[in-house]
Amino acid sequence: MSSEGPLPLIVSSPSGAGKTTLTARLLKEIPQLRFSVSHTTRKPRQNEQNGREYHFVDRQQFLGLIEQGAFLEWAEVHGNLYGTGKAELDRGERPRGIIFDIDHQGARQIKSAEPDAVAVFILPPSMAILEQRLRGRASEDEETVQRRFGVALREIEHYGMFDYVLVNEEIEEATKQLVSIFRAEECRRHRAARHAERLLAEGRGFGGSKPPAVFAGGAPPSPK
Ligand code: 5GP
Repeated sequence: MSSEGPLPLIVSSPSGAGKTTLTARLLKEIPQLRFSVSHTTRKPRQNEQNGREYHFVDRQQFLGLIEQGAFLEWAEVHGNLYGTGKAELDRGERPRGIIFDIDHQGARQIKSAEPDAVAVFILPPSMAILEQRLRGRASEDEETVQRRFGVALREIEHYGMFDYVLVNEEIEEATKQLVSIFRAEECRRHRAARHAERLLAEGRGFGGSKPPAVFAGGAPPSPK
C-alpha cells in the first residue's frame, strides 16, 4: 500500500471492550472505509453471516490457505485460527481506509508488513466492567467467560505496541475519538506529500502541457 493508498487502521482490544460496536460506528461515520473480513475456524455466532463478519472455514481449509501463502497475517486466538487474507487489500473499490479488527499478534504482523498502518487499542474502563460485558454475552458459557477474561488480561499487556490507546468509557465519546484518530492520521504529512509535490510541480510549470493561467502572459509581475 502506498502512502496514497487506503489507510490501514488496525483496531484491537481485549474481547468485551466494545470494539465491534465502535468499528461499526466508525464505518457509519466514514462510509468510504472498508472492513477487512478475516477467515476463522470459529463457529458463527447468532446473527453472524458468512462473508460479512468472517469467512467461516474449517481447520483443514485454513491450514490449506496458510500453505498457499494466502494470509497477510494469521494467529491462534482463544483456540481458534484467525487470519487476514492478502486479497483483502485489493478487494473492491479503492476505499479511504481499511479497518482490521485483529488481535495484538496480527497487529504486530501487519505493522511490520505495512509500516504505514495505524494501530489503535481499545480498553474497557475497568476489569469489573469487562467481566460484566463478557457475562452479558448469551452465547458464552462460564468456562468460556473465564478463559476470555484471562486472555483479556494477557491482551492488555500488549498495549505498548499500539499508536493510540482509547478507553471506551462512554460509546459516543469513544466513537468521536476513533473518528478523530482516523481523520488526523489521513492528514499526516507523509500521506499528503505526493499531493503537495504535485501542486509544486504544477505551480512551477513542470509536468503540465501549458503553464498555469497565472503565468500565461509571461513572467509574473514584479512586486511594486
Ligand atoms: P471473535 O471470535 O470474538 O470475533 O474474535 C476474537 C479475537 O480474534 C478478537 O480479538 C479479534 O480481533 C481477533 N481476530 C479476528 N480476526 C482476526 C484476524 O484475521 N487475525 C488476527 N490475528 N486476529 C483476529
